[in-house]
Order: sequence, then C-alpha cells, then structure tokens
Amino acid sequence: MVLTDTFTPRNFRGQSHLAARDARLRAILDHATRYFMTKRGVALEAFADREDHFGRARVARLAALSRLPELLERLERNATAAGTRVHWARDAAQAREIVAGIARDCGAKVVVKGKSMVSEEIALNPALEATGAEVWETDLGEFIVQLAQEPPSHIIAPCIHMSRADVAALFREKLGLADLADAASIPELTLLARRALREKFLAADLGVTGVNMAVAETGSVVLVENEGNIRMSTTCPPVHVAIMSLEKVAATLEDAADLLRVLPRSATGQRMSSYVSVLTGPRRTEEPNVELDGPRETHLVILDNGRAEVLADPVLREALLCFRCGACLNSCPVYQTVGGHAYGSVYSGPIGTLLSSLLLPTEDTRDLPFGCTLCGACKKTCPLGIDHPKLMLRLRERVCAGSPGLAGVAHAFLALHPLAYRLAVGAARAVDPGLNLLPRLPGLPVGLASFVDSRQPPRLKTPFSAQLRRSRKKGGA
Ligand code: SF4
Repeated sequence: MVLTDTFTPRNFRGQSHLAARDARLRAILDHATRYFMTKRGVALEAFADREDHFGRARVARLAALSRLPELLERLERNATAAGTRVHWARDAAQAREIVAGIARDCGAKVVVKGKSMVSEEIALNPALEATGAEVWETDLGEFIVQLAQEPPSHIIAPCIHMSRADVAALFREKLGLADLADAASIPELTLLARRALREKFLAADLGVTGVNMAVAETGSVVLVENEGNIRMSTTCPPVHVAIMSLEKVAATLEDAADLLRVLPRSATGQRMSSYVSVLTGPRRTEEPNVELDGPRETHLVILDNGRAEVLADPVLREALLCFRCGACLNSCPVYQTVGGHAYGSVYSGPIGTLLSSLLLPTEDTRDLPFGCTLCGACKKTCPLGIDHPKLMLRLRERVCAGSPGLAGVAHAFLALHPLAYRLAVGAARAVDPGLNLLPRLPGLPVGLASFVDSRQPPRLKTPFSAQLRRSRKKGGA
C-alpha cells in the first residue's frame, strides 16, 4: 500500500478497503501480530497471580486519573525541586513551540529522539527541523520509518508493516549500502543502523524522549526500552526534553512498579524490558564524572491536547487508562487485516480508534468507531481491563446524535409501526423474494449502498407471529 498525503482518519473507509486488498501487507501483519501474541501468551502463562497484578495496575491507573490535577501539581513541584524545568502545553502547537524554543535556546544542530508516540501526535519533527536542526529517530523501528518517510504503523512496533527485505532495500537506497542483500539478518540490519546512529548520539546537542510514566512522588520520569537508544538520548546530549501526555502520571514509585510488572509482559512478552531508566533532574555536582555524564539541563513538557475534556466524560475517560502496551492492536481482527496506516492517524487499532476519536475533531474521525467489529478481543486482551467495545458504542452514539437523516427517520417509523413494516417487507419480497436485488438498486444513498454491498441479506425465517397464526388456524383455535 503506497501512502499519500491524503491518508487521514477522514478517509479511513477507503484506506481500509485498499489495505484489506493488499495480500502482501496482510501476510506481514498476520505473521507479526501472531508473533507478538504468542510471545505474550507464553509470558503471561508464566506470570504467577497475573490477574492480581493486572488488578493492581488498573487500580494504580484509576487512582491516578481520579486525582490527576493534584498529582500533576505534585509532579511539577517535585520535578522542579530536582532541577527539571516543567512546561505546560495546552495543545500540539504550544508543545511544538516549547520544544522548538528549547532547541533554539541551546543552539541545537543535532537532535536525537527516543521513540515517543506523543511527539508523533504533536508532529514535532518538522518543527524541530524548522529551527535548522537535524533530527534523528534512534529507535530502530522509528529510524526505519523515518528513512521511509512514513508514520509509524503500530504503537510499539513502528515498522510492523515492513518485511526484512523491505528494510534491506531501504537501507541500500538511503544509507548507500549497495551490496546489502535482501536476506540480511535482523542483527545485521540492527548493526548497520547502530553504526549510522552512533555518531549522531556523540554529536547531539539535544535529546528528546517520551515518558512511559512520570512519578509525582519523586518528580522522576520512567522510560522503558530494549535498545539502549533512550539511555543514550537522555545521557549523551547536554539537554534532555521529556514530553508526556498528562494522563501518564503515577502517584508513587510503588504504583510505577505495579505498572512496570505488567507493561513489558503485555507489550513484548518480556518479564522486564532490557533497560528501565528512572530519571530525576539533571546531573548533580556531587556525582562522579560530573563533566561527562548526564544532561546539564532537563525539561518536562506536560501536554493536554484535548485530554482534560475527555477526563470530564464519565464513560470515555476510561480510554486514558491506557499505558500503550499495544496488545489490543495485535489481537484485533481489523488491525490484523488493514494495519496501522489505514487509520490515517498516529494511533491505530482499538485504542487508536478511541484516542483519535477523542482527540481529533469528530468530523474527521466519524468512521473510525464503525470500523470496529465489537468482537471484544481487545477488551479480553487489555491488561488494564479497558472496555473498548463499550466505548466504541458510546462514540457511535456521539457521532449519530442529532438529526437521524431520511433513512433513520424511515427506519424509526417502520420499527415503531409493525403493520407498515410488514407491508414494506411484503412489497419488497413480492418484487425480489430473496432480497438479492437490494444491493444493486440504482440510486441507493452512498452509506446504505456500501452497507448492503458487503452484506447478503439472510433468508428470513417466517416471523413467529405468522407461525403462531398458522398453528392457531390449524388447531382451529
Ligand atoms: S488499551 Fe489496553 S491493550 Fe491496548 S494498548 Fe492500551 S493498555 Fe495495551
């Protein structure tokens, strides 16, 4: 599937059709999502008392959401006391301005970034590039999609839609590695990316990362990863900026630990990620190697971008419990079929549908919740117990609120008047007994045409009332 600028949530319907017809994409997604789910299944099997741990993680997230303003203030106080400058960003534009301003202030020529969905959400890279800096994604998957000039297609596996041969071809073209074979192994490709990035870490003036959780009690940010690139991005450059969406706060280190027991197992099937960094402020004068290690300046950007409004909705706020393990994407039959790009938004899959619908204008995302089959696989998979189907229905209600349209009025009338309904169905059956012609009727409204185009009306059984009448007649009653 070739991506163009018209890939937006507004075009989800058409993009999904396109993606679903791409047999190669489906095969890659099938293989990758199965791989993730199998690894996860094995890890959870061996996770003693996992339901208790899931419960503790949910409680920690619920508690944080219920006292968010207080915890964010506490986070600000303690982070500031540790030497971090805290910035509040109302929306994406303000967040971009803040980070670009920091880049300008420190004269950044080279910026290294750790994987951060929130930086994708605010489209940070173009803003940093506009300051004159080179911006390098240093997570392997993000580095690959950056070279391909594509957005990530999965929360934790940005290039899940690409095969190994695709990556080799990309490296041949973009890194000038003419001799690289399609069959290059993953360690080989990783080594090549590492060589390309090593000099960037050493030259970097600014490191930018996301935040897996921020601890109000200590003012720390917690970052998990497997490649060591986040550790490099947060320690090599003299300035570090961490960007978090405001719901990512945890009250205490103990709550963070509860979340950490669940997050890697659910995300990648690991008991723990290879690196867990807990960062509290810039380097301190009493530390050894103070001239060499750690940033001299740290910043924390706390982003709202519509979340405060979501928090006010007693049902939909549940979406903000998510800690982005990505498991619901892997279990979702729709995601497995169309992949992440079809959603046309940074966030994809079940949780992506919810977040995009909640954070972007409704007129741009109205089709997303209708792309869900309501099968419930996401709810069953989510370690935090988020009830995605319930939230999808709520979003559908929201989209359909207001004027029901002509078809809606007609349907409501027929539903409320059984005689009229029977007459309408009888008339339709007299012309077309199997209702096979329905999808081919000229002049059907677009929505109805696409609905019936993909559905064969079932052969209806004789209504119960008619059966009852018939049996009464037979019995002479
Ligand atoms: S909704 Fe649940 S399963 Fe999906 S990414 Fe978030 S925490 Fe993971």
